[in-house]
Amino acid sequence: MNQLPAVSEGSGMEKPMKIYNTLTKRKEEFVPIEPGKVRMYVCGPTVYNLIHIGNARPMIVFDTARRYLEYKGYEVNYVSNFTDVDDKIINKAIEEGVSAEEISSRYIAECKKDMEGMNVRPATTHPQATKEIPGMISMIEDLMEKGYAYNVNGTVYFRTRKFKEYGKLSHKNLDDLRSGFRAIRVTGEEQKEDPLDFVLWKPKKEGEPYWDAPWSQGRPGWHIECSVMSKHYLGKAIDIHAGGEDLVFPHHENEIAQSECCNGCEFARYWMHNAFLNIDNRKMSKSLGNFFTVREIGEKYDLNVLRFFMLSAHYRSPLNFSEEIMEASKNSLERMITAMDRLNSAISGAKTQELTEDEKKKLEDMKQYRGKFEAAMDDDINTADAIAAVFELVRFANTEVTEGASKDFAEAVRKEMLELTDILGLIVERKAEILDEEIEQKIAERQAARKAKDFAKADAIRDELLAKGIVLMDTREGVKWKKA
Ligand code: AMP
Ligand code: ZN
Repeated sequence: MNQLPAVSEGSGMEKPMKIYNTLTKRKEEFVPIEPGKVRMYVCGPTVYNLIHIGNARPMIVFDTARRYLEYKGYEVNYVSNFTDVDDKIINKAIEEGVSAEEISSRYIAECKKDMEGMNVRPATTHPQATKEIPGMISMIEDLMEKGYAYNVNGTVYFRTRKFKEYGKLSHKNLDDLRSGFRAIRVTGEEQKEDPLDFVLWKPKKEGEPYWDAPWSQGRPGWHIECSVMSKHYLGKAIDIHAGGEDLVFPHHENEIAQSECCNGCEFARYWMHNAFLNIDNRKMSKSLGNFFTVREIGEKYDLNVLRFFMLSAHYRSPLNFSEEIMEASKNSLERMITAMDRLNSAISGAKTQELTEDEKKKLEDMKQYRGKFEAAMDDDINTADAIAAVFELVRFANTEVTEGASKDFAEAVRKEMLELTDILGLIVERKAEILDEEIEQKIAERQAARKAKDFAKADAIRDELLAKGIVLMDTREGVKWKKA
């Protein structure tokens, strides 16, 4: 039994948070193994190309879960790996005539750039499989000693029948699976004791990267990598293990088998899986021609819009990507940004400093939006409802922070907006790069033209800026502009 964490008064941890656990198929109250601390592992991408927008979904949703856990006061040790040894990487290396290492290090660097664009914080540790090989050999040796693994001609398999709980995560009927696997015989796999047995170590093929091991010169299987990296950086038992729903079987099922048989304790308490991202209601695939990298989307949209789009649905619901939905996301995010612009001008233009009695009451009233935000996030990270709560706050800001507002009032509302949007990782301050000198200079030229009563020139400048997506607004405080 886990102990309830000892929490200090006023801490967000007091309020229970629920997480849907794939293992139990229920929403469960989140109780970490060690009070106040969370050990979390998220399966990362295989680095053989630029990441696609499907890969971006787990990155964004679990980064948001991490931010919310931290907001609640937990210290989160967040580990997310890069799978840097794999057939796809080797094939790409052969194609380009370079080493596998060159391919993986190139795409790790590119992935980190995309993560930064999406405001996904770097993990506490980003381990790489190729740097953890000794740990993998030692876990496989341990499994062999305990009778959970066997070697056939240099290939080591896990003996699934020996692990009585095999199948507990995916809730699959193992006998059906076995007969299915028997039907599709894969050459070279006849040597397995059971169709469900999986590879822990495989011998090298000509030209492949390899490491020396007691069974053969070769490389580890994919599943053992995550079991070992998770143990190395987080210990034998962790709180949350996460990834896309395609990983439930066999990847995560096999990780559980390896880790629990080797370590003799429960591997992870909560298993979180995001649903898939589809494009125009179809599975994203290169052959269907509906495949987008994060980089391609970044050429058209600020990646903050992609983040908003990902969080606008619950992470366990399938999400459909389309041009129209991206446009709608862009407009919604712009409403938040415009509200922030207004708050910033209210702060700089405020004529009084201190809160009035009425404003104090309004700030009390404003707390309801944070309450709704927290209730949504406590309910299995419901970012869709959390965003709805932020929009209620936007409406409050737009109607209540009027011209006569005190500086303290406008600042308090601004702070509230910033704190809640930061938990979602959304950047709502208009980015400085948009305020480029050219726009400011054009606005000054237009003002000069108006002063000289050259309205044709003033209008031409306005149209020129509009063509560049910049909308000018003449207000009492002067000319303001926004992106179309
Ligand atoms: P991979 O590089 O294929 O191992 O995938 C890395 C992560 O992206 C895993 O957690 C996958 O489950 C996830 N993933 C891949 N494709 C999609 C998709 N279309 N929608 C959501 N998640 C995905
Ligand atoms: Zn993994």
